[in-house]
Amino acid sequence: MRSIIVGGGVGGCALAAALSRFQSPATGPHARVILERRATGASGGMGFILMPNGLEALASIAPDRDWAALGRTIRVASLRSSDGDILTEHNLEPAVCVARERFLKALRDEAFADATTCMLEGRGCTAIERDAHGVARAVTLDDEQRIAGDVIFGADGANSQVRRSLFPTAELSDAAIHEIVSVADAPDLARELGATFRKFHDPRGGLAVGMLAESASRVVWFIQMDAARHRVTSTDASSLAAFADAMLDGWSSEIMEVLATTDFSKSHLWKTRDLAPLAALSDQNIALLGDAAHACLPFTSQGANGALVDALLLAQLLKDVSCAEGAREAFEMYSAARRPHHRRMFMEGRRLRASFLEPLERCASGLASPVLPLVA
Ligand SMILES: Cc1cc2nc3c(=O)[nH]c(=O)nc-3n(C[C@H](O)[C@H](O)[C@H](O)COP(=O)(O)OP(=O)(O)OC[C@H]3O[C@@H](n4cnc5c(N)ncnc54)[C@H](O)[C@@H]3O)c2cc1C
Repeated sequence: MRSIIVGGGVGGCALAAALSRFQSPATGPHARVILERRATGASGGMGFILMPNGLEALASIAPDRDWAALGRTIRVASLRSSDGDILTEHNLEPAVCVARERFLKALRDEAFADATTCMLEGRGCTAIERDAHGVARAVTLDDEQRIAGDVIFGADGANSQVRRSLFPTAELSDAAIHEIVSVADAPDLARELGATFRKFHDPRGGLAVGMLAESASRVVWFIQMDAARHRVTSTDASSLAAFADAMLDGWSSEIMEVLATTDFSKSHLWKTRDLAPLAALSDQNIALLGDAAHACLPFTSQGANGALVDALLLAQLLKDVSCAEGAREAFEMYSAARRPHHRRMFMEGRRLRASFLEPLERCASGLASPVLPLVA
């Protein structure tokens, strides 16, 4: 059975790796083709937090790899005011901060451990071809090549082309929250942060800075802001640096340190958008996973983790499936199992966003704590 996976990001590569582990030899020789629009070697992304549910999925997808060793374990969330005063600290179930590129390389290595998996890079999927019964039979690429397959997966991110072909009226929300995501080369700060995720809040609400050590020398950090109140007008390096300096003037010493050690030419302005829960995650022999299925707001830290859990479940349900018709039933089970989680992530993301936009309230002992921005 040939699987065509549109999108070679976290969801697509995790799915290829999971299929190669779970598909039963009895279902015939497998071929998995990942189609990735970005060119070979295109850089991309800073990092994310692998939460317990993502780590658990990875342990099933590739049990022989030490996934936690790819990054730094995070055990504490420390929520602070902009001047650095601690508002509250929580122990976390261990999570791992990883660089996106290192993590993707590891997922690809797992996917390509099976020689029947291949990737076409630098070419995007433009259309899905269906037969008279609506069963997908092939995809068309932007160079007009046609690739036939038995099952098709849309792992093509928040702006998914595959999703648009299944659910043309499903729309992403407006980007109410923008993030500038950066990496600072700051060994002293990385050491000081250790296993702690620090997040600093403007008491007026709508502005925060988060930071985590991703290695012994690199700190992944982000400015999260209400786009209605704080607008970035230009994304070249000097404009981003000037914007960050002006916004964070007078904030705590850790923030002065990341500002001084960041190369803003590598920073990324991320306009975060979410997707209202879909009525289904599949249609016939086509299934959606990751952001294509459930783009969520970054407050939940569930983008990559949700994609990993989707990939594992899909591969488990397809274990003994050998044809397009069999995949349909497996995909309906997948859809029924994952939709409640997606709905919860959507609601949690919205709840955390509402709390983020509000000023921190005053209480007898000072400022009240902001909401912990992680969901498992
Ligand atoms: C370049 C990049 C950098 C990112 N950096 C971060 C980060 O630093 N921190 C963070 O928390 N999240 C980041 N994200 C988002 C994060 O990876 C996802 O939210 C999450 O991992 C879910 O993964 P996904 O596979 O569903 O989507 P994605 O990781 O977005 O992967 C989707 C893939 O599909 C490809 N694609 C899109 N359309 C087509 C098409 N028509 N044909 C073929 N391929 C297509 C895209 O190029 C992309 O590689 C980044 C995403 C990208 C694409």
